[in-house]
Amino acid sequence: MKKKRIAFFDFACCEGCQLSVLQLDEKLLDLLDHVEVAAWREVMTGESDQYDVAFCEGSITRETDIHRIQNIRQTADIVVSLGSCASIGCHNALKNRWPTKKALEIVYGEQAKHFDSIPARPITAVVDVDYQVLGCPVSLTEFEAVFKCILTGQAYDPPNEPVCVECKRNDYLCVFEKGQICLGPVTRCGCNAICTAFGEPCHGCRGLLDQPNLEAAATVLTADHLHKIMDAVAHQYQLTREEVLDKFSLYNNWPELTFEEDDTHDT
Ligand code: SF4
Ligand code: SF4
Ligand code: SF4
Repeated sequence: MKKKRIAFFDFACCEGCQLSVLQLDEKLLDLLDHVEVAAWREVMTGESDQYDVAFCEGSITRETDIHRIQNIRQTADIVVSLGSCASIGCHNALKNRWPTKKALEIVYGEQAKHFDSIPARPITAVVDVDYQVLGCPVSLTEFEAVFKCILTGQAYDPPNEPVCVECKRNDYLCVFEKGQICLGPVTRCGCNAICTAFGEPCHGCRGLLDQPNLEAAATVLTADHLHKIMDAVAHQYQLTREEVLDKFSLYNNWPELTFEEDDTHDT
């Protein structure tokens, strides 16, 4: 059977997802046995514009990016959004809190006029993608799973359970018990709770679950509670609802994240 030709492309991002894929080491070599690499700037010189599968990393932040990703979409049979920049906007979308001109001035000062920019958005907001790999950086387990699904012609749907499920399945200590704030209850799992495994809170890098209950999550972090652990956290941080929303927005600001009924709550 003819091998699929794969290509990796990057848009606005740190390229950490591609670097993570390289950390698969021998497993990566096993995967690459089943494909031909047509383009991958991080690992080879030269590239072909004949490819079947495009792994696309990063966000769309310029008009020229729109044309480029549309061309990739036209060429490839299969497009994969690689990482949270490409899939959900990630940190890049925080730029959209400022008017684009202002954001350019903050970054480039007097040189701002030389740069072209548009509100940042994930690749998934511009073209249809066939697969998504989430995380900042990507979960390598999920990358492998998606890669195998591509090779075998199967669909892949990212899990739609909170990180807490994986955390409890592994019997990790809940970091709320250490007085830390964790976004695991509203964040899509699939990373095997790697952060809480090391005693660190989840900051939400895989994006929000479908229909997360942000209202309840904010209430837990801001209101008085009968439960002493949650009460201690709420009192320790004294967060306002806006500050809680800032935490949720870190990876999830496309489209701009808001509470549904802001006027019903005082801070
Ligand atoms: S998702 Fe994170 S690690 Fe991956 S490219 Fe974007 S910023 Fe870098
Ligand atoms: S540490 Fe975070 S992910 Fe784990 S159970 Fe607690 S809130 Fe959920
Ligand atoms: S625990 Fe949270 S922040 Fe850490 S990798 Fe998983 S989703 Fe990302």
